[in-house]
Amino acid sequence: MIDVAIFVATMKITPGDNRLEIAAPAKVNLFLELLGRRNDGFHELETVMTSVSLYDHLRFTLRDDSEIRLTISYPASPSHLREQDAIPTDQTNLICKSIALVRQLATAEGNSDLCQRGMNIHLLKTIPSAAGLGGASSNAAAAIIAANLMWELNWPKERLENIAAQIGSDIGFFLSCGTAICSGRGEKVEPLATPARLPIVIAKPPESLSTANVFSKVKPLESSVRPLSARHLTQSVQSGRLAQIGGRLFNRLQEFASLITHQIAALEREFAQLNCLGHQMSGSGSCYFGIFHNSKTARLAANCLSSRMPDTRIFCTHTSSAQPLNFSAERRSSSWKLQK
Ligand code: C5P
Repeated sequence: MIDVAIFVATMKITPGDNRLEIAAPAKVNLFLELLGRRNDGFHELETVMTSVSLYDHLRFTLRDDSEIRLTISYPASPSHLREQDAIPTDQTNLICKSIALVRQLATAEGNSDLCQRGMNIHLLKTIPSAAGLGGASSNAAAAIIAANLMWELNWPKERLENIAAQIGSDIGFFLSCGTAICSGRGEKVEPLATPARLPIVIAKPPESLSTANVFSKVKPLESSVRPLSARHLTQSVQSGRLAQIGGRLFNRLQEFASLITHQIAALEREFAQLNCLGHQMSGSGSCYFGIFHNSKTARLAANCLSSRMPDTRIFCTHTSSAQPLNFSAERRSSSWKLQK
């Protein structure tokens, strides 16, 4: 019997026979300011992220040999098919990198024979990639959680956060999900209360954007300009004042992404005509989102965007809050049993 207490929020975990299924959510950035370039080439930033009800589905199955094998499938739609080639299934995929790092650390400690067993991982990819929604990071966090559980390592959340930071900037956020203010490269995560089921409509234009490419366009702020603080937005988030949240959205990367593609400005014009509380690009783009008073106005807006921009994928989502989920995993012969 292993007892695992991790904060898993909107990550929905379902155990099966030697198998674990995780629904890994996307995020949007309600606020993102750059505070300067660091010596390691990354940017110091302050961002507020919230997870939304748009999920990739991952299934992890233990193998009898030591191989880690990733397969990916996509919902059958022409726009998904366009993106298929972009995601590698080899050791460069963040899922494989995360599992390999957990195995390497566990092996170095002589921690577990079980981690010599390989895994088949199947990813049903619904979250658009290279879109500023954190799909790859969310998948990586799911992989770290799965390896910790299935190899019965029982590592605490702090250890998982440390591993997450070695793989990528946003992965630590997805170990908790909900809403958080993140700093450093993005890896320092401070949870905030999540506005309950705040309706968010997300639009993915045909063009995708690479995070590294967008960051490469960043120019330092002029010395007379002080970087904005997330404080006003976090106050509105904590008090649940939806209209205020809408007015306090900000994303510094939007002006730089707009240098690469005209689609961001086109989406901005479309969202400006909708009845929304606020709108902007998410992360390093290319997705753009708006927040709405209620699910009815969000649905109307989503329908309107779909008909006006047929090449753009529209997702009608809402925020989903983090809840501490204490669970224990019991692995008897070939079955996993998780208890809340
Ligand atoms: O950490 P992650 O893999 O998400 O970063 C992708 C790329 O985005 C980095 O290689 C870097 O070029 C850029 N980046 C940055 N500053 C950050 C986060 C990412 O410059 N805080």
